[in-house]
Amino acid sequence: MGKEELMKKLEERIRNCQKCPLGQLRTNAVPGAGSYDAKVMFVGEAPGYWEDQRGLPFVGRAGKVLDELLAEIGLSRDEVYITNVVKCRPPGNRDPTEEEIKACAPYLDRQIDIIRPKVIVPLGRHSMRYLLEKFGFKAEPISKIHGKTFRARTLFGEIVIMPTYHPAAALYKPQLLEAIREDFRKLKTLLEEK
Ligand code: SF4
Ligand code: URA
Repeated sequence: MGKEELMKKLEERIRNCQKCPLGQLRTNAVPGAGSYDAKVMFVGEAPGYWEDQRGLPFVGRAGKVLDELLAEIGLSRDEVYITNVVKCRPPGNRDPTEEEIKACAPYLDRQIDIIRPKVIVPLGRHSMRYLLEKFGFKAEPISKIHGKTFRARTLFGEIVIMPTYHPAAALYKPQLLEAIREDFRKLKTLLEEK
């Protein structure tokens, strides 16, 4: 089976999933969007209001920030893949629970196995913690490790993990926007090497 077929099947499973209580509360599950051949995957936390309404990742205010950051380094949404650790919206946009992350993260694992990205950018601390621990690294405060690179060996080659702040954080703390921008510039260099 090709990537396209595997991903479509997986997206269908996510849309019908009831593995955790968020399945009962969602309008739409948000599997992810973008290129199945992407070199870079961005992984947020969980859908918010607009994402739940539309079934697409990062289409609200945080998504606008993400679009600008991508544009600044010459990337469009069609050439990257964007998803979240948790695929259904937690009520009131609360943080996902440990149980919800545990139930849902196997979908992200599978997306990584199918897409085989060269670089993964966790957006925010939940995603950073899940992804670093998944690849055998120790999670640390995002303020300490944003923009740093972690090189993980996988069956299909090396994946570089480079966490940064969640773009929504920049909406409330403008000084973080400059830090994310700088991390994105590092990402650009990293992708040029790949
Ligand atoms: Fe399934 Fe994930 Fe949605 Fe829970 S959040 S119902 S595990 S897709
Ligand atoms: N915040 C996230 O973490 N993910 C989205 O898809 C939207 C907002």
